[in-house]
Amino acid sequence: MAGSSAVTDGVAAAALRSVIQRVHEAAERSGRASDRIRIVAVSKTKPVSLIRQVYDAGHRSFGENYVQEIVEKAPQLPEDIEWSFIGNLQSNKVKPLLAGVPNLATVESVDDKKIADRLDRMVASIGRKPLKIYVQVNTSGEESKYGVEPSGCVELAKYVSQDCPNLEFCGLMTIGMPDYTSTPENFKTLAKCRSEVCEALGIPEEQCELSMGMSGDFELAIEMGSTNVRIGSTIFGAREYPKKN
Ligand SMILES: *Cc1c(COP(=O)(O)O)cnc(C)c1O
Repeated sequence: MAGSSAVTDGVAAAALRSVIQRVHEAAERSGRASDRIRIVAVSKTKPVSLIRQVYDAGHRSFGENYVQEIVEKAPQLPEDIEWSFIGNLQSNKVKPLLAGVPNLATVESVDDKKIADRLDRMVASIGRKPLKIYVQVNTSGEESKYGVEPSGCVELAKYVSQDCPNLEFCGLMTIGMPDYTSTPENFKTLAKCRSEVCEALGIPEEQCELSMGMSGDFELAIEMGSTNVRIGSTIFGAREYPKKN
């Protein structure tokens, strides 16, 4: 393994390997199969060259937060990437997102019926395959965050799965706290939402994924049942944002 990859290997590819190892160990600690846990490499603000490096190391699942950024980057990268959109999505950006990224696999940030409807209709009008959907849940109890309240997750999950024929409900997602950290309470709340959703929809828990855990807490999230971790800075390095003033 070291032989051929050593030449092209870079910092991000090495970081990916270390994350894969840590995911594996966290899965083992909690008696779960690590091949059931997806790592979404969150590449927001990072250049195409760095994404390419992680792709060349064998990774295929990537996530972005901003429509403008993903529609710019995705066409410059291989088509077998499975893109996840994980940022807040406005109705008027649904069309450019779906038209600009044919290999968009998942939208993780659906938090109301209006955006679900818009996605459903746009998938139909473009004629692409169904889009996978996570319902985003606000598990922090604070107003500043996007996501439905835990008490509203059943209704929205039901809506996506029963009233949106072009969408495929696949689970629940949470960010956690407004500062993008998470607590064990956030993870517990999301797992509890899953029980309610699965009961209401009459589906087994394995059919409802949990997207929770980021760079700082993905091992804990896995131990608490996460099936989809979204990891940015640990793979790609710290993000630099232009200074606002
Ligand atoms: C940026 C972002 C991540 C990744 O955060 P890191 O702490 O860099 O791993 C995960 N999820 C969402 C929704 C994000 O916006």
